[in-house]
Amino acid sequence: MELTGKIALVTGSTSGIGRATAQALADRGAHVLVSGRDPERGAQVVQALRAAGHKADFLAADLHDADSARDLAQRAIAAAGRVDILVNNAGIGGFGPTEATTEAEFDAMYAINVKVPYFLVAALAPAMAERGGGAIVNVSTMVAAFGMPGMALYGSGKAAVNLLTKAWAAEFGPHGVRVNAVSPGPTRTEGTTAMGDGLDQLASQAPTGRVADANEIAQAVAYLVGDGASFVQGVVLPVDGGRVAV
Ligand code: NAP
Repeated sequence: MELTGKIALVTGSTSGIGRATAQALADRGAHVLVSGRDPERGAQVVQALRAAGHKADFLAADLHDADSARDLAQRAIAAAGRVDILVNNAGIGGFGPTEATTEAEFDAMYAINVKVPYFLVAALAPAMAERGGGAIVNVSTMVAAFGMPGMALYGSGKAAVNLLTKAWAAEFGPHGVRVNAVSPGPTRTEGTTAMGDGLDQLASQAPTGRVADANEIAQAVAYLVGDGASFVQGVVLPVDGGRVAV
């Protein structure tokens, strides 16, 4: 129960990797602020966590710009007093040829995948630094580490997140805030259902050769926010079955 007494805000925790992360942090004693757009799914996640004896609340948020990020941060503080752990997980995937991408698609993906994490950190990290402690984990992707046809938009936004992870480690690390990222490989979630066999094909290129369960990513996030990672700073941790290693 190493996270007992800690307040954790996990964006996009009504589904997939975020929901598994909410569970993993709650299992370690954190009070988890579950967030997403869908109040029904949010209520289900919170209900399941509370039924297991955990502390959890739902904060509905449609994240798409700086104001929506600031608003969620303020409501998180109003609900729980402070935020000790921020997991920037909410995000959208999507792939296709560069020439087929519309400006609206570009802006929407960069808004949720880059702009929202940026302004959530801007809203929450300074207070963590003032208190002398905190942990932030950004959820990136393996395709931020290498070029892949059709992944230019998605991969480039997450590559920005990888650099932001290091920049924020430099900025807030001296004040006791650890900022790290996980870089998942193909993971079975509601968000990847539409990929069908494509997900398995992608996973087959890695040494482990299979799709991950969301909990396998969540355990890495839980490690990074915990005391066991007290000397881990500015790292982008591949959790991808070895895909970027070979
Ligand atoms: P998912 O099952 O589709 O879940 C996405 C979560 O984000 C949901 O809780 C969704 O909640 C929330 N969300 C989406 N857009 C939002 C918005 N505009 N405002 C607020 N919440 C929003 O996705 P996932 O597969 O678990 O992916 C989670 C993260 O892992 C993403 O950042 C993704 O890029 C990354 N990732 C996933 C994989 C994979 O193979 N699954 C691999 C590498 C990286 P609501 O629907 O309730 O809004």
